[in-house]
Amino acid sequence: MGHVILFRQAVVDVETSRGICVVADYIKDGQVSSHTRELVGLGQSLSIASSRPLLAVLIGREAKSAAESIALPEMKRIFIVEDDAFERYHPETWCAVLFSLFSRIFPALILIPHNATGCDLAPRLSIELKAFAVTDCVRVQFDYGQFLFSKPIYGGNAFATLRIKAETVVATVRPRVGSPPHEHVQKPDEAPIETIHETHLPEHKVKVESVVPIEESECSLEQARVIVSGGRGMGGSEGFEVLSDVARLLGGAVGATRPAVDSGWAPASNQVGITGKIVAPDLYIAVGISGSSQHLSGMSDSGRIVAINKDPDAYIFKVSDYGVVGDWKEVLPAFISRIREFIF
Ligand SMILES: Cc1cc2nc3c(=O)[nH]c(=O)nc-3n(C[C@H](O)[C@H](O)[C@H](O)COP(=O)(O)OP(=O)(O)OC[C@H]3O[C@@H](n4cnc5c(N)ncnc54)[C@H](O)[C@@H]3O)c2cc1C
Repeated sequence: MGHVILFRQAVVDVETSRGICVVADYIKDGQVSSHTRELVGLGQSLSIASSRPLLAVLIGREAKSAAESIALPEMKRIFIVEDDAFERYHPETWCAVLFSLFSRIFPALILIPHNATGCDLAPRLSIELKAFAVTDCVRVQFDYGQFLFSKPIYGGNAFATLRIKAETVVATVRPRVGSPPHEHVQKPDEAPIETIHETHLPEHKVKVESVVPIEESECSLEQARVIVSGGRGMGGSEGFEVLSDVARLLGGAVGATRPAVDSGWAPASNQVGITGKIVAPDLYIAVGISGSSQHLSGMSDSGRIVAINKDPDAYIFKVSDYGVVGDWKEVLPAFISRIREFIF
């Protein structure tokens, strides 16, 4: 007797099934993050290319107004969960509500921002869904009738492009890979919002005892259009104070390499790289940084890279658009006074 494969026993809504679904990482003041907005733009172009429905899930307070702000004509449904139990990200509750939704709509592709929340959620969700997870995507395309996912491998020294044979793929995508939908796009008269009332939440195995907010620099690394980063060559925390001055003048944020963080010159939340944050500002100024693959894989998508290093053979110069060979103690004060001339 042949095998009968019961794919998934569910009543399938054809309008929303086998679609591309964007999961928002958080909602603040009734808005999704810029990273989520970029994934909506990416989802929109993939939806057009693959003729699959575009969907989104928003979890948290003020999800309804956030949903209205991202509605697009291509969007078939925006699922929202506004229950108080979802005020903050919790792996078990988020995973439970997403699992029950996805078991109903059975998406082909789930797009999640590649950050701390996304990296926690994606593998859990893919296990529950028996789906394939691909993290840290720097490109997602639809070609030859299939989705293709590109991601760095070997510590950022090479890129792999994956064609995945799976019914559902859960992908985390780096910032600035997609572009937010154009502002002038005609909004639908009414956003296709569906509220989910989840009643069967699991009992938490993980209990959050307290939440300590991380000391954020004035401008967060992920949102910053300018990042001024320092490495071991800064020599101490005083060097980072100079970097803060430059960042403040340029309206940017301060980043750091792992040795600078390990030495206590910068907080761990400022670390850029494969084990830190993945950033893609318009301008990245690397000061006293040699350019290891682990650091580059966190910032190589930056628009313009400027390096200041006293070693003319430092690898960072190979990936920079502009380079200054010199001691930062001489270069930065001159740079600061030149910026001041322009600003004031
Ligand atoms: C598993 C793993 C994960 C890692 N993850 C990360 C990560 O996420 N992010 C990360 O950054 N690193 C990471 N690392 C560490 C990484 O391998 C490198 O050691 C690190 O990036 C080097 O940091 P650096 O450029 O600050 O220091 P160095 O390589 O020591 O470079 C210092 C540079 O400063 C220059 N310099 C010195 N003095 C001056 C001066 N006065 N003026 C101007 N230039 C000066 C020097 O010429 C040199 O090029 C990881 C390593 C491992 C093994």
